[in-house]
Amino acid sequence: MNKAKHLISNAFMAFVDQVLPPRCVLTGQKVEAQGMLAPEAWAALNFIARPFCARCGSPFAYEIANDPAPTFAGMGDTVVCVGCLNRPPPYRTARAALKYDDSSRRLILAFKHGDKTHMAAAFAPWLSRAGREMLAEADMLIPVPLHRWRLLARRYNQSAILCDALSKATGIPTFTLALRRIRPTPSQGYLSASERHENVRKAFAVDPPFEDRLRNRSVVLVDDVYTTGATVRECAKTLLAAGALRVDVLTLARTAKEI
Ligand SMILES: [Zn+2]
Repeated sequence: MNKAKHLISNAFMAFVDQVLPPRCVLTGQKVEAQGMLAPEAWAALNFIARPFCARCGSPFAYEIANDPAPTFAGMGDTVVCVGCLNRPPPYRTARAALKYDDSSRRLILAFKHGDKTHMAAAFAPWLSRAGREMLAEADMLIPVPLHRWRLLARRYNQSAILCDALSKATGIPTFTLALRRIRPTPSQGYLSASERHENVRKAFAVDPPFEDRLRNRSVVLVDDVYTTGATVRECAKTLLAAGALRVDVLTLARTAKEI
């Protein structure tokens, strides 16, 4: 955005704030600034906590959560879910800040359609905390890309905006164009898990000039929601085939119903 546009945008936002005071995207209560959440909204959000699968990060069910096994503690957790045992993911670990439920769905919808920059800045500390271990070893952040047609329709990639906010918070650089979606893929919303895997197969490629920078590097792949993991698995495979040392996955939310 050029400077004049930016000034106009700032002036416009100040005007909007006067006429329409900023409201919490979840509760509708007045808040101090755009993108902020009211205290009640915090209570409605379900942050993911241990124990969870050491690989895919899926939270374990109540009975297992109460298992006194010491393997759940701290960095040493090695318990892997049945899904990951049967079909080990190509990425090293996946972590998410929130369970994907009604509250986080509304939050992410507001992020997609509302004040993206402010909200992404609010999400960055959540992502930093959920991904603390992988980020400590990361050389770069790469967003899950949109195909250019969808990018044209939406005008922005929400995963790239999350990456930029996380870069600001952590100092780890974002490479927005490193990974490209080389064919459009139909929306995954109504597809089964196996259909989703087929839908995204060979849909991604590393930008050839970027391969040198990727070789032997640790990548954190960033997306808004992890559902079946089909998209991030395919992205991770593509990055590893192009020479990345390892790929971890960090998302704002993930479904938590498999286990
Ligand atoms: Zn797992």
